[in-house]
Amino acid sequence: MSQTILQNMKALVLTGPGKFEIQEVPVPTPGPFEVLCRIGAVAICGTDPEVIKGSMAGYWPPSYPFIPGHEWAGEVVALGENAEPFFKIGDRVAGEAWKGCGHCANCVAGHYNRCQNYGRLETGIRHYGFQFRGAYAQYNVYSVKSIHKMGDSVSFREGSLVDTAGVGLHGMELTGITPGGTVAIIGPGPIGILAMRTARLLGAAKFIVVGRPPRLDAAGKLGADILINIQREDPVEGVRTANGGFGVDEAFECSGSEGTLYQAIRMVREGGRIGLLGVPHDKVMEKIPFKYVCRNEIAIFGSKANPNVSDKVLSLMASGQLVVKDLITHVFPLEEFAQALKTFVHRKDGAMKVVIEPNGPEKDIIPA
Ligand SMILES: [Zn+2]
Ligand SMILES: [Zn+2]
Repeated sequence: MSQTILQNMKALVLTGPGKFEIQEVPVPTPGPFEVLCRIGAVAICGTDPEVIKGSMAGYWPPSYPFIPGHEWAGEVVALGENAEPFFKIGDRVAGEAWKGCGHCANCVAGHYNRCQNYGRLETGIRHYGFQFRGAYAQYNVYSVKSIHKMGDSVSFREGSLVDTAGVGLHGMELTGITPGGTVAIIGPGPIGILAMRTARLLGAAKFIVVGRPPRLDAAGKLGADILINIQREDPVEGVRTANGGFGVDEAFECSGSEGTLYQAIRMVREGGRIGLLGVPHDKVMEKIPFKYVCRNEIAIFGSKANPNVSDKVLSLMASGQLVVKDLITHVFPLEEFAQALKTFVHRKDGAMKVVIEPNGPEKDIIPA
């Protein structure tokens, strides 16, 4: 693979709310403890259309022009000062959107996804693709803390799903999984499917997936045991009936939709646990059956992003235990981003994960 680094690069640049174009921009230079990466593949996340639309402009993104994108894998092509002990040129890596300030109480405790200095770039915090330049470009600079070495058996395309799979694994680690137990997944999108697969690796035996077609049907093909179509049946009744009249051990909310937390509470058994992995809008407010939750000792875990799990996800991918490539339904070059975005947003042709390759396809390992 050639190591030539261009002076200028192509990037997807947001120029205002809902406005974007492919522009030629200078390749950024890595600073101390940073590396320059060539982006091999970057997956469109459910949050990207919101960032692009600009409904949270001033926050995500903080200002214009802005390069979004945060679910990526690629290759280290240049080292900044002090980066050498950590990475070498040619390392294949998968990225993480978060780098905490490293100094606040939460960061020191390892909870950098809850950094207390969010938005204060001067403290060193980075939230790539949301508050700092992201991966829809041929190159980007990353902190050595935000990249993870990837085995040769994991393709760039697969590596771009480390973020989504990590959201699943982090949620599982917080919530816990009952070995041999039954899990309900609400929301058969990429997070739901990968939550299901990580829960299976942690020992859950049976999966009831709740949603609507066509994604619900896709979940069936991708490993769900029982499908509950919310257009045809009540989700709580459906899950309980499918589980022999009992509540499930764990329920994972992976849609961010209104009403689903209430449903999850009613789906789990006494002492059951609920993980909230979906990303709801600010205006989504849930009513909780307070007494029922207390009486049944139901535990609810909020889960945010994917801290401290990328290396584990990559090991599971490299060993073949965690398969992600069948979730990648579409691949586009950067120049066709507009079409890729439409495909993702409108879920055209069964779109699940839509991946952009800013430097063209990876030649050596392409998923069969
Ligand atoms: Zn994401
Ligand atoms: Zn911090």
